[in-house]
Amino acid sequence: MAHELAPLPYPNNALEPHIDAQTMEIHHDRHHKAYVDNLNKAIAGNAALEAKSIDALMKEISSVPDAIKGPVRNNGGGHWNHTFFWRILSGGAGGAPSGKLAEAINSTFGSFEEFKTKFEAAGVGRFGSGWAWLVANGGKLEIVSTANQDNPLMGKSVAGAEGTPVLGVDVWEHAYYLKYQNKRADYLKAFWNVVNWNEVSKNYESASR
Ligand code: MN
Repeated sequence: MAHELAPLPYPNNALEPHIDAQTMEIHHDRHHKAYVDNLNKAIAGNAALEAKSIDALMKEISSVPDAIKGPVRNNGGGHWNHTFFWRILSGGAGGAPSGKLAEAINSTFGSFEEFKTKFEAAGVGRFGSGWAWLVANGGKLEIVSTANQDNPLMGKSVAGAEGTPVLGVDVWEHAYYLKYQNKRADYLKAFWNVVNWNEVSKNYESASR
């Protein structure tokens, strides 16, 4: 079954003024759509790959034949990452995490403020295009970053990072350039206003199970 582009779970303007409607429209309707279309093209005719969920494709990326590994990694990663990203954002969100996730963030990083500083630094420090992530890795929270459309599910030998994503932010220029131009750090500060901590907590709890 072919992979499909789900609609955004909110209107294009839901994240205004922090992430503008035009950026969301282009990002979802063109960039994410292209990843889905190109993933489907890359695996077309390979019944074993066509049968895998996007999660399984990511975790088993090493078993993809070399001839199509690049396109599956880039476009499959793009599909997984953006599906994840839309879900952890929402309008009228922000604030701070609560419950078990808040406790884990405080005990790992010292405080929520310290965590935010380190997470923003991971996003700013990613040269070129990529993502910053908070992952649960063997029962521990870690901040990592990946290049291009790699993600930690692909594992250390492929993506240079491992673990189950709990929170992630897209630092490709297409995610912020219309509104923030070259000021990636400002985009990362604004990002906190649209984080849906309920969803992030669910990610943490399912990763810790
Ligand atoms: Mn993107």
